[in-house]
Amino acid sequence: MHQLTIAEMIRGLQSKAFSSVELTRHLLARIQQLDSSYNSFITVTEELALSQAEAADQRIAKGEAPALCGVPVAHKDIICTNGVRTSCASKMLDNFIPPYDATIVENLNGAGTVTLGKTNMDEFAMGSSNESSYYGPVKNPWNTRCVPGGSSGGSAAAVAALLVPGATATDTGGSIRQPAALTNTTGLKPTYGRVSRWGIVAYASSLDQAGPIARNAEDAAYLLSAMVSHDQKDSTSLNRPHEDFTAGLSDSIAGLKIGVPKEYFGEGLNAETAARVQDALKEFEKLGAELVDINLPHTELAIPAYYVIAPAEASANLSRFDGVRYGHRCENPKDLRDLYMRSRGEGFGEEVQHRILVGSYALSAGYYDAYYNKAQQVRRLIKQDFVQAFEKVDVIMGPTTPSPAFELGAKGADPVAMYLEDIYTIATNLAGLPGMSIPCGLVNNLPVGLQITGNYLDESRMLNVAHQYQQVTDWHQASAV
Ligand code: GLN
Repeated sequence: MHQLTIAEMIRGLQSKAFSSVELTRHLLARIQQLDSSYNSFITVTEELALSQAEAADQRIAKGEAPALCGVPVAHKDIICTNGVRTSCASKMLDNFIPPYDATIVENLNGAGTVTLGKTNMDEFAMGSSNESSYYGPVKNPWNTRCVPGGSSGGSAAAVAALLVPGATATDTGGSIRQPAALTNTTGLKPTYGRVSRWGIVAYASSLDQAGPIARNAEDAAYLLSAMVSHDQKDSTSLNRPHEDFTAGLSDSIAGLKIGVPKEYFGEGLNAETAARVQDALKEFEKLGAELVDINLPHTELAIPAYYVIAPAEASANLSRFDGVRYGHRCENPKDLRDLYMRSRGEGFGEEVQHRILVGSYALSAGYYDAYYNKAQQVRRLIKQDFVQAFEKVDVIMGPTTPSPAFELGAKGADPVAMYLEDIYTIATNLAGLPGMSIPCGLVNNLPVGLQITGNYLDESRMLNVAHQYQQVTDWHQASAV
C-alpha cells in the first residue's frame, strides 16, 4: 500500500479496496520500523491518525467524502497543530503545544486527510541540509550518508522513503524545492499569498509560503487544491476564487514557451546536473514546447539581498521567544535581563543566533539604509527581471540546485557554501513567484531536480507542465527504497 500515489489511494479508498484505518495502520507500522534510519519525523501522532482515519472511513461509507478523505499526510513541524507539539526543531519550542491548528491544517483536516505526524526540519527553517535540527539531522533515503536538503528535509525524506504519500512544507528561499530536488520528490512553492501563513511559525514573513511535497505533480495538485483559501487571519492572503489544480493537468502543452535563463547554467553548476536538465528540456521540445533564451541579469544579487532581508525579518519575528510567554525558560533567572539572555542563549541553536545577529545589525539605525534598504531595492530589480521575462515566455526552467545531495557535515564549516545551495531558488521568493521542483534524472544514483518557475498565480499551468512531463518520463517513479 505504501507504494500507492495519492491519486491511487483516493481510488482505493473510494472503491473500498481498503479502508483509511488499514492504510493508516500500515504506514504507521512502516514509520515505526524504518524511520530510525532517516529521522524524518519529530513526532508521530498515532492516536490522532487512527481517530481521523475512522472518521474518514465513516464519511466515505456515507458517500459524502471529499477527494482527499482518508489520505495520510504529515506536517512540517513549523506548522501549528492543535494539541500536538510544534517544535520548529528547536530546543526553544521543545515544550510548545499549540492550542489551535494553522489554517492549512484546518483546510486539510476539513478535506479529510489523516495526520501521521510532524516532520523534522532545520531549526526555525534556517538551512539547506536539515543538519541544524535540535532533534538531529535527517538522512537522505537515497543514501543515508547524504543530506536530504532543507529546511523541509523531513517532509521530503518521509515522502521519498514511502512513509507518507505527501506532506506539507514551507519555502522561504528554497526549502520546498531544494529538498524535493535532492530526494526525487515533487515540491511546489505557491505564489506569495496563495496559501495562508496563519499558524505557521514565521521565519521571514515577506518570503514564507507553504506548499506540498509529494511523489508527482498530480498528487501535489490534490494537496494544493485543499491547502489554498482566502484567510482573514493573514493580511497578505490573496482573495481568489477557489481553484481545482487537478482540472488542467491533461491539457496539451504544445506551443508552450519555456524561458531558459543563461545565468542558471553558468559557473558553479555541476556538469552532470546540467546535462540531466538539458535532457529534460529536450523532452519538453518533443512535447511541442519552444525553448527561448532569456536573461535574468540580477541573479547573482539574489543571495546577498536574501541574506540581509531574511535575517532582518527573522530577527524581528524571533523576538517573541523571550522565555516569558511560552517556550524554553532558563533555570533560576537573576533578573529580567538574565531571563531573556539565558533563555534565548540556551533555546536557540547556533545558526539561528547567527541570523538574529546579522538581522539585528542590518536593521540597526546606522546601517539600515546601507543594508536593508539597499537589499529591498535589489529585490525590486530581481522582480523586474522576472516581469520582463514573463512578457516573452510562459514558464522558466533550469536546475533546482547546483549539484545533487552532498554528504552530512560537508558544508557545515562554511555557511556561504551552504547558502549557495539556494542560488537558483531564492530569487523566486524575493519576487513572490510560484516555483516547483520535479525529478529529472540521477547522477551517481542521486536525484536531480528540474525547477519550473511560473508567472504569478500560474500554479495550474506549472502543474500541467510537470504532469505532462511525468506522462512521458519515469524519473519521478525511481524509488530510494
Ligand atoms: N536555505 C535558506 C535559508 O536558510 C532557505 C530556507 C527556507 O526556505 N526556509 O534561509
